[in-house]
Amino acid sequence: MLSIRWVCGELAARARNAALRGAWRAALAIVSAGAAAIAAGLVLNSFMSYAIYLDEEPVDELLYVLEVDGKAAGAASDSAALEGIISGVMDAYSTDDTVSARVLETVRVTRRAVEAGVARDEADIIANLSPGGGEAALTVETVELVQSEAVVPFEVEYVPNDQAYDGESGVIGGGKNGAMLVTTERVLINGRLRSIRQAGTVTLEEPVNLVVAVGTKTRPATASYGEYIMPADGRITSYFGYRASSIGSSNHQGIDIAGKLGQEIRAADGGEVVYAGSGYSGYGNLIQVRHDNGDVTYYAHCDEFVAAVGERVARGQVIARMGRTGVASGVHCHFEIRVDGEPVDPLGIIK
Ligand SMILES: [Zn+2]
Repeated sequence: MLSIRWVCGELAARARNAALRGAWRAALAIVSAGAAAIAAGLVLNSFMSYAIYLDEEPVDELLYVLEVDGKAAGAASDSAALEGIISGVMDAYSTDDTVSARVLETVRVTRRAVEAGVARDEADIIANLSPGGGEAALTVETVELVQSEAVVPFEVEYVPNDQAYDGESGVIGGGKNGAMLVTTERVLINGRLRSIRQAGTVTLEEPVNLVVAVGTKTRPATASYGEYIMPADGRITSYFGYRASSIGSSNHQGIDIAGKLGQEIRAADGGEVVYAGSGYSGYGNLIQVRHDNGDVTYYAHCDEFVAAVGERVARGQVIARMGRTGVASGVHCHFEIRVDGEPVDPLGIIK
């Protein structure tokens, strides 16, 4: 129970002793008359002072008290000062990205009589409100919005092309990544990240899909793949390029694959047999296949031919049998790949 008890102040005591009893009585009379309450208050204040009692214990004067969930964090004679302290504690958790801040506890400022132990000093009040400050500590929730740019990857779009063989494909165009602005919402409790979520996106640039044509035409068995296989099984006894030898040229235009007499020689890729004969010096029985891209493959020193000129052959199809005709020190297949008429290293092309 709050009570206010009027007592005589020093001035009042002196006045009383200075024989102002008449005036004192007159003042009381004015109060009792109730004619000029303000005047009475002034007079009383001049000669009297008051004390405040809470539950029969004397307390300090009426102050603004800051309470957090009902627990007193501090008191001040000015409510604006308390509000400023709260703002200061909340501002400590604000960044340039902060869009809102709130205190999770119930905070009230009331004017009342204050117990002697309640903090009055601003630094003490701030300490009480800070994390770890005890019962009156504030929990400050801040929300931040952060924007960043992100890549939007393009997708691959396949379109049928009936002019190309099944299994063939080629890029038509496109293939450019897009960009978007991503807004991320971060919720922090006393400055520590508690949750994060994507709050929204804005497209800055649409991606351009990569368009790939895919062949749908049924491939004839004899069509070229544009890739080559080894034409025969066996050990490579001579490689492409310069070589020192008692026979043949010093610049080897193919590779030699050693084998047994009559062993199968297969077309390295699909195409058309354009030559089968022995008219090339040193090559013996030579068979040539021209492929769809214009490349020509040579298979030399054959024992016999299996395919004939003008015949279309499939990759892997047997076209000749291995021998040692022409200039050959043993049974082998001399194999060349000619691109635009020029021999290239088969081992650099064969898959
Ligand atoms: Zn050779």
